[in-house]
Amino acid sequence: SELVVSFGEMLIDFVPTVAGVSLAEAPAFVKAPGGAPANVAIAVARLGGGAAFVGKLGDDEFGRMLAAILRDNGVDDGGVVFDAGARTALAFVTLRADGEREFMFYRNPSADMLLTHAELNVELIKRAAVFHYGSISLIAEPCRSAHLHAMEIAKEAGALLSYDPNLREALWPSREEARTKILSIWDQADIVKVSEVELEFLTGIDSVEDDVVMKLWRPTMKLLLVTLGDQGCKYYARDFRGAVPSYKVQQVDTTGAGDAFVGALLRRIVQDPSSLQDQKKLEEAIKFANACGAITATKKGAIPSLPTEVEVLKLMESA
Ligand code: ATP
Repeated sequence: SELVVSFGEMLIDFVPTVAGVSLAEAPAFVKAPGGAPANVAIAVARLGGGAAFVGKLGDDEFGRMLAAILRDNGVDDGGVVFDAGARTALAFVTLRADGEREFMFYRNPSADMLLTHAELNVELIKRAAVFHYGSISLIAEPCRSAHLHAMEIAKEAGALLSYDPNLREALWPSREEARTKILSIWDQADIVKVSEVELEFLTGIDSVEDDVVMKLWRPTMKLLLVTLGDQGCKYYARDFRGAVPSYKVQQVDTTGAGDAFVGALLRRIVQDPSSLQDQKKLEEAIKFANACGAITATKKGAIPSLPTEVEVLKLMESA
């Protein structure tokens, strides 16, 4: 199978209609569907691949809207369940004038946090060639146990496990707890992707030198990636490592670029798993992922910016 199953949160970001304001100053907000694992599933489907999403939404208008967005984008929503009591998660997000992102989450608790072990679509998870997840679903029970259980099911069924911690400090009780819990599942993953910010958060060192990145390497891993924005990314595999520059684009909004990168890379890996052992093939897959991330950075929002395979190949050919 070439199916990528993505597990975790899907929510609505409310984004100011004007740029460079604080949340308090924003005159109005627009809905921007997101949640990193959902973005990854849609990225895979937009590229023409098989994708499914597993997670919980509120049994409310927003929840049903999000499930429809999955389906409209060709993502299998057979793993989506609805909570009768809790609302779909919301986040107010702004890019302030100083370049910092400001988040305000409405999760008290939100439906995504209430997914239980018993609600998992086991048959769907067992069909995964790659099972992908983040760390937000590790924060609170019962979702945390459901997440750990889903990882086990996928691994036992032979899936590769893919992990993008997607650190959101504000959601954790403390920095220490975030670090400990994010690292508690580090050894299970076959593929791990971190940003520069996450690398510094997890290692305590502000550097992307190889000896720092290698602190996050485990002998059980097949691939470790560090994304570097417009600089592309660095990659580490068992027998080789390197860096792949990205493509030159007019950056507008990087929201979703990391998810687009992950989706594209996973799409290539399920098409040819031997890419993980072959440096030349892996670099080709990473180029494709960089191009997918770069295109996503040229447009506002996450989901509307995710490219088709034709668009990605066009950027690669024109470079
Ligand atoms: P996120 O910002 O979504 O939480 P992230 O920090 O991993 O995640 P980035 O590093 O911004 O995301 O982007 C992921 C990938 O997308 C990069 O490794 C790069 O390949 C590509 N990319 C992002 N921004 C640009 C850009 N301005 N120009 C070219 N490529 C880009």
